Amino acid sequence: MAILPIVLFPEKILKQKCDKVTSFDKKLAKLLNNMYETMVEADGVGLAAPQVGVKKQVAVVEIEEGSAIELINPEVLEMEGEQTGVEGCLSFPSLYGEVSRPYRVKVRAQDRKGSFFEIEAEDFLARALQHEIDHLQGVLFTSKVSRYISEEELERFGEE
Ligand SMILES: [Zn+2]
Repeated sequence: MAILPIVLFPEKILKQKCDKVTSFDKKLAKLLNNMYETMVEADGVGLAAPQVGVKKQVAVVEIEEGSAIELINPEVLEMEGEQTGVEGCLSFPSLYGEVSRPYRVKVRAQDRKGSFFEIEAEDFLARALQHEIDHLQGVLFTSKVSRYISEEELERFGEE
């Protein structure tokens, strides 16, 4: 595996709609492995392929160690409720803001072998999934921030 360089805003690829994956081959498996390793190394809870310079609908999310979810060609099927919380993004170092999103989502995606699966998530996992799925459509969290948060404020959040 390898750690990949993370693409930072304002690189153009971050605002582009990614292409659907059609071949579930060794190259895809390698990309997923490298993305996972890169996300862990960067201390992130999610990473989308455009953030490592690949314009494909591929993302990984892991909000707790050992619970990694690989998403290929994901779509949100249902959403419900609302939550507001602080988000950051590996492509925007040291930038944090409050974002409102649906509280619960149902997502359909493919795994690395191409099999379809559905996942229902709420709260923080639902937020993380939506953040990464947005990346694959070229949508960045900064377009949804209602209020930016300073690092000092963020530390206070962490203490709560
Ligand atoms: Zn992000």
